[in-house]
Amino acid sequence: MPETTPSADAPNREPKRVEALLRAKLSQLAAEESSLAVAAPEPGTQVQYGKRAGDHVAEAADRMARSRTAGELEKLVDQVMAALTKLEVGTYGICEQCGRAIPEGRLEALPWATRCVDCQSKQRR
Ligand SMILES: [Zn+2]
Repeated sequence: MPETTPSADAPNREPKRVEALLRAKLSQLAAEESSLAVAAPEPGTQVQYGKRAGDHVAEAADRMARSRTAGELEKLVDQVMAALTKLEVGTYGICEQCGRAIPEGRLEALPWATRCVDCQSKQRR
């Protein structure tokens, strides 16, 4: 008779699945980063004043709103990389601040979380 077995689909008990998730996220971020580089307006680019300049600005603003900033992307990449390293050394799913286990629900929603909700919210304050 098995005792209370932890659910098999808990992410931190399936390192292969978590690794796949994290690597997929990494390549997605890399793609975002390169599209960001392309989308960045070059200084000194000639704006075609004869045409409808307003459209051009609106288009650029729209692009900005849709994509993350380079800084945000970099932070996310760092986090995903850190999670991958933790996975390797076997500390994945443990809060790096307080050392407690990060709740599985949080890891499910945010597989690259390196802190529990408590520590994360304390840091933002
Ligand atoms: Zn914590």
